[in-house]
Amino acid sequence: MFENLTARLSRVLDSLRGQGRLTEDQIDTAARELRMALLEADVALPVVKDFIEHVRQRALGAEITQSLTPGQEFLRIVQQALTETLGSRPEPLNLRQQPPAIILMAGLQGSGKTTTTAKLARLLKEQEKKKVMVVSCDVYRPAAIEQLRIVAGQVGVEVFPSAVGQDPVTIAQNALAEARRQYVDVLIVDTAGRTTVDEAMMKEIAALHAALDPVETLFVVDSMTGQDAAKTARAFADVLPLTGVVLTKIDGDARGGAALSVRQVTGKPIKFIGTGEKTDRLEVFHPDRIAARILG
Ligand code: GDP
Repeated sequence: MFENLTARLSRVLDSLRGQGRLTEDQIDTAARELRMALLEADVALPVVKDFIEHVRQRALGAEITQSLTPGQEFLRIVQQALTETLGSRPEPLNLRQQPPAIILMAGLQGSGKTTTTAKLARLLKEQEKKKVMVVSCDVYRPAAIEQLRIVAGQVGVEVFPSAVGQDPVTIAQNALAEARRQYVDVLIVDTAGRTTVDEAMMKEIAALHAALDPVETLFVVDSMTGQDAAKTARAFADVLPLTGVVLTKIDGDARGGAALSVRQVTGKPIKFIGTGEKTDRLEVFHPDRIAARILG
């Protein structure tokens, strides 16, 4: 395993004691260790640079609290900056709206959109006692429509039927009309992803957003994609007014760097993390836990 940041910092800094402030030399040394730790956690390079600059500014001239060593003081500044960037508390879904509240799911193919759609449906149904309907607007892959039908069946929520070749916006509008008719509380709209960002996909999801005016537009991103997560996040944030992020596959040994990258790039809260393939593996995002994971 990698040496964690606490160990790194105490190795390089804690022989130097007894000063009242962090010196520039100490900060440079500590910043190098921080850079390594963030890159090992798969934080995107431009995000690492910004973050380190931010920490450096704070550390310059910072008084070392008497009970702390220079390494501990630097770590305290890093933790504080991380918590501020990641958010200091969990951010719930905003469903305070005339029902049906619409949740639009956006993200690349394979990011975990369909799985997360079912997980969210289950959570809203079981924990919030909501009446939930889901619909797939992925009219390119019959397997995607079938997959949603199966997982929604497993969690016991209604699926609005759709088929390959139909127009995604029409499907979504029809689903909304049906959701209204049935007094559904929450309609979750799963969308088509591509393996890479492409213009047609972006246009289509922007059209769905315009037609539905969702209260939540969630960007679903695979935490294992590391550096690419930041680029994908930027592409989606450019065309959609995102309201939050779901970070999936955090169980796949990811150090969680994608959380920092995606949060910094989109400026939107991470609302949930996916911790496994099963439909109960969705957790509310706790910024402090991911901060600890990123720092190793
Ligand atoms: P979509 O193409 O974006 O709809 O992605 P899917 O929902 O089909 O997910 C792609 C793959 O990732 C599937 O094999 C899922 O079981 C898996 N997956 C989704 N979320 C998670 C997660 O949080 N953890 C793990 N380990 N696998 C996940």
